[in-house]
Order: sequence, then structure tokens, then C-alpha cells
Amino acid sequence: MMIFLVLFLVSLSLGCLSKDDEQGKLDIGVVYRLNLESTMSDKQQNVNTKECPTIVSRTEWNARSPKCNETMKTPVPFVIIHHTHMDRCHDYDHCCAEVRKIQDFHMDVRGWCDIGYTFLVGEDGRVYEGRGWDTIGAHCPWYNHQSIGISIMGDFTTVIPDKIATDTVQALIKCAVERGKLSPDFILYGHRQGRNGTTCPGDALFKEIQSWPHWKPGDHFPPK
Ligand SMILES: [Zn+2]
Repeated sequence: MMIFLVLFLVSLSLGCLSKDDEQGKLDIGVVYRLNLESTMSDKQQNVNTKECPTIVSRTEWNARSPKCNETMKTPVPFVIIHHTHMDRCHDYDHCCAEVRKIQDFHMDVRGWCDIGYTFLVGEDGRVYEGRGWDTIGAHCPWYNHQSIGISIMGDFTTVIPDKIATDTVQALIKCAVERGKLSPDFILYGHRQGRNGTTCPGDALFKEIQSWPHWKPGDHFPPK
């Protein structure tokens, strides 16, 4: 019985580690997974009752090393909402794989020095660390040095994300204010309001965020 349990836990942990990870990292993955399962029995509880939602660190999702690291002055005055325009994800393993795929795309295809977003959110109710709280991102020119860029994983052109994901975004924003990373009187925009020519965060999600606190209407493209 015990051996089956161990095999099960090991198989659960593999999704967030690359195939050639050394044993040491695998052990960390198992320990992390055990901790995670013990605190994530109720996703909704996770979102609503903690000050900050669970943030899956770069180490945990097995990020590549960044080629840059420029400190961002906080608190910042803006939140920019994105969708990834790629696959949706509903569980830890799939979301970790998706974040790695996006980092590869941003670094290898776009030629950026790291994944562009400050944070990503999955429909598993977790936040995945992108550049993180204190590093300038690459998600919306002119706003990069003065915003938290949050991207919900998926294509939300015709459908909105599961409530668990939008609740998690709200919890992350609240957490950002409480930690002094975001001004209490911040302004929230969809990506298309800060950059001409993009449909991000998708028509359906863009309509949804218009009812969120601190959203302001209009286009606010950067000064030329
Ligand atoms: Zn975007």
C-alpha cells in the first residue's frame, strides 16, 4: 500500500519538473506537493480566507534563469490585465507546464530576457510567479516600469475565465496593496487600453474587468 502511495505522489510531482531534473529537485517537488495538498483541499477557501493567494514560485514551476533583472520601484500605480492567448489550465501540473511554455515563447521567439508578465493566474486558483513583485516586466510598453502585469492563462475572446481565476486575481491585487507593492488608489486597465493594436485580454475578459474595482475607461496609450 505504502509503495503505491509513494509512486502516486512521485507521479503527481513530475509535472512541474523537467525530465532531466536531478534527484535533489525531485525530492523538493515531492515535499512541496505534500505541503500543497495539505493546504489546498479547498481552493475557494484558499482564495477567500488568506491574505495572499498561493504563489507558485519560479523554483517550483522550474523556471529558466532570467537574462535580466531590473528592479521596479514600488508601490506602482497601475495593474494591467492580460490573457495569454494560449491554453487554459485547471490543475497544478498543467499550469506549471503552461507557464514554462510561455517563458520559452517569450525568451526564444520574442527574444525577451525572461517571461514578460509579473504574475500569471491559472484556473486552478493559483498564482504563478513571473518576474515577481520587484522586477520590471515586459508586457505593456511604457507601463512596464510602473505596473503589475497579471495574465490569466487561456484565450478569453469568447468566454470568461472560471470564477476561481478571477477571484484569485482580485486576491492578488488586494495582497499587492497590503504588501505596499501597489498604490491603494491604483488604476486598472486591460492591455488593449495601454497599447494600440492588441485585442488582449480578449473581448469577453475585457468586458468582465470593466466591473472590477479601480477600472477606468478609455484608451491610455503611452505618450509619443
Ligand atoms: Zn496582453
